[in-house]
Amino acid sequence: QTLKETLLGSIRTIPDYPKPGILFRDITTLLGNAKAFRRAVDELVHPYAGMKVDQIAGIEARGFILGGAVAHQLSAGFVPIRKKGKLPYDTVHVTYSLEYGVDEMEMHKDAITSGQKVILVDDLIATGGTAEGAVKLLRGMGADIIAACFVIDLPDLGGRKKLEDLGVTVRTLVEFE
Ligand code: 5GP
Repeated sequence: QTLKETLLGSIRTIPDYPKPGILFRDITTLLGNAKAFRRAVDELVHPYAGMKVDQIAGIEARGFILGGAVAHQLSAGFVPIRKKGKLPYDTVHVTYSLEYGVDEMEMHKDAITSGQKVILVDDLIATGGTAEGAVKLLRGMGADIIAACFVIDLPDLGGRKKLEDLGVTVRTLVEFE
């Protein structure tokens, strides 16, 4: 099986979740498949093997699972980007746009040192609103963002373009229309 076959074959699609008309791409089935999980993480890591990467920033919640594994493989630190109100210490926060309305996410104010090389990780990019917020937070702290990496791209929703327009290198492993 090719990488794409393994990944596409292990992602489950749930119709009408969380709202009618939405096809939710469920990666818990990928995470629970040892071979698929390893191949996904290996593929995310592969271009950066041997490079100096200081921190992996993972977006709550599925970005924590993938990002933690990527950080371990690259001997990098891990920084959580969380929904508002979940982090115990002083934070920096950003408002970002969702399909309907806005939300806020935050990081600890000392999580990144200016100039650190950071890779952003999440499971999926759709409109790119979430990742754009994360990029703003990270850059606000002086991070040098090497790339933003996602297992799944929904190209019709334009997220990749949104990040590339900000000058961010985007890597994705599989696409769904
Ligand atoms: P965006 O901000 O790019 O529109 O949405 C991406 C964010 O929403 C990511 O944090 C991602 O985890 C979550 N998300 C949106 N749709 C899906 C989906 O179909 N499957 C999964 N696993 N996550 C999704």
